[in-house]
Amino acid sequence: MTHLLILGGTTEANALAKTVAERGIQATYSYAGRVDNPRPQPLPMRVGGFGGVDGLTTYLRDHAITHVIDATHPFAAQMSANAVAACHKADVPLAALTRPAWVEQDGDDWQHVPDIDGAVVALSGAPQRVFLAVGRMHLEEFAPQPQHRYLLRLVDEPGALPLPNCDVVVSRGPFTLADDQALMQRHGIQLVVSKNAGGLGARAKLDAARALGLPVVMIDRPALPQRVELSSVAQVLDWLAHSGVNLGV
Ligand code: NAP
Repeated sequence: MTHLLILGGTTEANALAKTVAERGIQATYSYAGRVDNPRPQPLPMRVGGFGGVDGLTTYLRDHAITHVIDATHPFAAQMSANAVAACHKADVPLAALTRPAWVEQDGDDWQHVPDIDGAVVALSGAPQRVFLAVGRMHLEEFAPQPQHRYLLRLVDEPGALPLPNCDVVVSRGPFTLADDQALMQRHGIQLVVSKNAGGLGARAKLDAARALGLPVVMIDRPALPQRVELSSVAQVLDWLAHSGVNLGV
């Protein structure tokens, strides 16, 4: 009997959950539990870490999981590495539902950095107005650059912030070019810091940066172990069908 585990927290995972639910395929959607009110899903949900590779391996066995789809964010490197290791141990097939990285276009002014530390170093220098679009979890790492005025866009209202000069916008997206351009103009943004997340929901800030002629510090993706990578819900369905899953209607 099929039982998919979808590692979620992304637009792609939500789209997959919808399709899987519509087809009546048994599946569980897993959230890390990072946001206060996770978006409801049309599938049974579980929330919170599994307890590393061993915890996930046990979960896969205890819940008779037959397939894992890792649809986490491209920067969720720990979860993705754990999924590869646990699926190997439990002998459960794994595929990642990923989205292509963003690629620089004419008119873009990107400085590539390999990781968050690289972005922190790139912010050395005179005070600027910076749109720091890296998510709540990484703000502390930017504390060594307190001279800037930061614009933060966060999913939940934050508590105390590790940066002294911040403007906070609470919003979940997806975002539009017009809205992001207006937001960046309103805050007099001079520099954007972004993870190379890929996908449509978060790219408006890069289109807005191009339109406004602003430089971007682009944090490249973390390296991940080798795995099957698929880039659409349709490809996931094909992969499931090839491994014998009955896809229903
Ligand atoms: P991470 O650093 O790779 O994961 C750290 C730990 O969090 C994992 O080892 C695991 O704990 C737990 N975890 C992560 N994703 C999980 C999931 N979907 N279900 C259950 N446990 C999970 O992950 P992260 O970068 O903090 O991302 C956490 C979540 O936010 C993911 O679901 C991701 O899709 C979403 N997200 C991340 C970003 C980003 O920029 N990183 C952006 C948007 C959304 P255990 O070891 O205890 O199992």
